[in-house]
Amino acid sequence: MASVALPISRASLRGLAMSLPLRLGAVSSPCLTSGLRFSSSFVAGARRARAPAELARRQRGTALTRGFKNDVRVGRSGRESPSFAFAFDIDGVLLHVAKPIPGATKVLKFLNDDNIPFILLTNGGGKHETERVKDLEARLGVQLSTDNFVQSHTPFQELLEGPNSLRDKTVLVTGSDYEKCRTIFKEYGFQNVITPADIYAADPTIFPFQAPSSYTTPSQPLPKPLYSHPGPITNPATLPSHLKIDAIFVLNDPRDWALDLQIITDLLLSHAGYLGTYSPLNHPTPTTRDHPNGGWQNDSQPPLYFSNADLLWSAGYHLPRLGQGAFQAAVAGLWRRITGGAELRRVSIGKPYRETYRWAERVLTSMGDGGGRIGGVGGLRRVYMVGDNPESDIAGANGYCSEEGTEWVSVLVRTGVWSAERGGKLEGVFEPKVVVDDVMGAVKWALKKEGWEKGAAGEELE
Ligand SMILES: [Mg+2]
Repeated sequence: MASVALPISRASLRGLAMSLPLRLGAVSSPCLTSGLRFSSSFVAGARRARAPAELARRQRGTALTRGFKNDVRVGRSGRESPSFAFAFDIDGVLLHVAKPIPGATKVLKFLNDDNIPFILLTNGGGKHETERVKDLEARLGVQLSTDNFVQSHTPFQELLEGPNSLRDKTVLVTGSDYEKCRTIFKEYGFQNVITPADIYAADPTIFPFQAPSSYTTPSQPLPKPLYSHPGPITNPATLPSHLKIDAIFVLNDPRDWALDLQIITDLLLSHAGYLGTYSPLNHPTPTTRDHPNGGWQNDSQPPLYFSNADLLWSAGYHLPRLGQGAFQAAVAGLWRRITGGAELRRVSIGKPYRETYRWAERVLTSMGDGGGRIGGVGGLRRVYMVGDNPESDIAGANGYCSEEGTEWVSVLVRTGVWSAERGGKLEGVFEPKVVVDDVMGAVKWALKKEGWEKGAAGEELE
């Protein structure tokens, strides 16, 4: 899925950056794309978490910490492994409406054959990484791996780690297909996953309209009954025997917004995530006036996570379509109406947010063969981000400040949503290092810059 570069999207991004209370402090670093960052708990978990490639390697008993000094990867060409790598967006770069863009297959095969590391970094989602990689392999005719594939919701796995782990907590997940969302989260390692369908099945009065069948089937029994007492909470001791949601996730684009909007709003208004309760801190009163955010979302309500902030995206239709960012805007707009102007506290990941780039860089760094690390002693020096969207691909790469000192170079292609006529000026964080015709041009430009024009058999990429 590709988001669309339009002025409205750019404005929305800036507006979101200004309003998101969960960012860590002020925008103090020039490396920050937009000031949007994870909540402190997310970051704490992320520091302890390991990227999938690294986890898999550790399970095979080849610890990454072994023998850095002499681990220099050697490709089929007999050359040392490069200290540079590529990150490719998918839609508009490698594929267009599910068909390969000319040159894409040749480029990936060249990189595979020459042991040049790359990852596919997409804001798409809705399928488990394993399923999506199989699908891409069939379409592109290139061998891929989940080790070099990062979807918008892939970094949610970081929340399984650390002292605030959500592994054994109860989480609500929604998206295009409730049951598929549950399956993906279960495969990630979340143990207690419920969907809006489970809640609707337990009490259909929560949505007092004729419900489409997707709300009702399939569903699973809730682990605990819903709280259903009207009025203030008079006996808090009874709460633990009722359903409590510890985090809310939007995995990908919801299809039927109405039930999702209702349940998410109910949880944001609840006391501590007990669905069916109403927080006594809601509404500014003499008691709550001094609370942060006027008391809203200040009573241990579950955090709300979105995997992708793209307002619009390019699909088969001739005009841009609403994406997950539109659903996020709907939740935020509804929240402002309900609260009389309070900003919605939430966390967004995916491109252009820094945590997604940090995750991607860690995946690339852990790609050395035989327990080595990419680039040998010097490590990963440079990553070329090849994308078609200035709002996400380019802004994210330009704004990302690597903790390891790795340089991210943004490369914009003309095969996707951006065009000089439609996309407007490329300025500031949206300005790429170079604009090229397509992915072939992007990789050739980068290889020339690296002095790596010839492949394993001495052939040039063309
Ligand atoms: Mg794209």
